[in-house]
Amino acid sequence: MDRSTMILRPAARIVHGVSVSDGAGVKLNRLIGTPQLDQVDPFLMLDEFRSDDAADYIAGFPEHPHRGFETVTYMLAGRMRHADNKGHEGRLDAGSVQWMTAGHGIVHSEMPEQENGLMWGFQLWVNLPAKDKMTPPRYQEIPASEIPTARLAGGATAKVVAGEIEGVRGPIIGIATAPTMLDIALPAAGEAVLPLPATHAVFLYPFEGAITIAGSGERAFHRELAVLGAGDAVRIAAVGGHARVLLVAGKPLQEPVARYGPFVMNTAQEIRQAVTDYQAGRF
Ligand code: MN
Repeated sequence: MDRSTMILRPAARIVHGVSVSDGAGVKLNRLIGTPQLDQVDPFLMLDEFRSDDAADYIAGFPEHPHRGFETVTYMLAGRMRHADNKGHEGRLDAGSVQWMTAGHGIVHSEMPEQENGLMWGFQLWVNLPAKDKMTPPRYQEIPASEIPTARLAGGATAKVVAGEIEGVRGPIIGIATAPTMLDIALPAAGEAVLPLPATHAVFLYPFEGAITIAGSGERAFHRELAVLGAGDAVRIAAVGGHARVLLVAGKPLQEPVARYGPFVMNTAQEIRQAVTDYQAGRF
């Protein structure tokens, strides 16, 4: 893309996270799925878990169901053991990602494995279009060694989990909302310009350091989430030292959302059916 004709996306909203407790008492910083920011269609929830106190997370997320959307777990530090009711199990190590398409139903547990040390990562919930909500469950699990790094002009690097940047393709494929998910490292005073489809919703989360957006001087500080406005490229720059930024983009579904805890459907009737099916052991 010709840089001179790019329309840079401005920051439309900047929100703080909310401290919440979920699972069996795991302390989380919830960025999306809060009273201030209900969703960024197609993204329904973003949680950051980060603690070096095992008491904050060790009870984990014992057995619970999902239907109608996808859960994405991206680990920065620590390990998470998972197991589901279909016999699928494994362990997510630091730097790995699990993209789980829950589809018509999964019952699983997500349990931190170690008792000490830093546990840090994200869980993102991605909606499914109505036509795919009852699809069979599917997993994509990618170790850190298989997530490629793109080198960007301006000194930045980006781990490409999903989507394509500078000809580097992420390993996550076949997702309805055509997502891009990048873990971007900006050196001090570094900047990055990233073309992204104009059709997509985009958010940024600087989880280390702070950034300016679109060269406008608008800043997102550490642990603030920026929802971007319309445009066909994102421009970010580190301020006050190095920064690390989670960038996520996806095609909005523009469909009705009916959500009840771990079920996300289109209508209240479909939610009632999900509860009935789960209680009857049909997941
Ligand atoms: Mn879960």
